Amino acid sequence: MAFIAEGTPIVLDVRLEGLHDGILVSAEVSTVASGECVRCLDEVSLPIEVEFQELFAYSPTEELEFSVHDNHVDCEPLIRDAVVLELPFQPLCNEDCWGLDPETGEKLSEPRSATSSDIDPRWAALEALASDTTTTADKPAAKKRT
Ligand SMILES: [Zn+2]
Repeated sequence: MAFIAEGTPIVLDVRLEGLHDGILVSAEVSTVASGECVRCLDEVSLPIEVEFQELFAYSPTEELEFSVHDNHVDCEPLIRDAVVLELPFQPLCNEDCWGLDPETGEKLSEPRSATSSDIDPRWAALEALASDTTTTADKPAAKKRT
């Protein structure tokens, strides 16, 4: 799980527009999330860029969750929600990360070559079934009766 480390700068590009019923806030938020690659556990920094738009009502109404207080709009909850929703659940150091070797624990730089010894003998019967399925699927379907 990725997170925003304490002290990480958050860059905001905010536009405020006065409308007849409130202030429309449009913002672009950029920051950097930290986390661990779910495959190799390396530390990763992930750029986060997210936009949001919210109307702050001059007078509180039932439809609008946010309103202007003392001529101020409080964007903090919006920024937090926008960024949190953008955080990846399964951060990767690289889309092609091969993860760790289950035997040595070393980070793999290429796909692990599957050798027959990797297959648990208890699953060998299933493997035979799996190959059967493939062969059957390749055969042309039985003719339909008309
Ligand atoms: Zn990785």
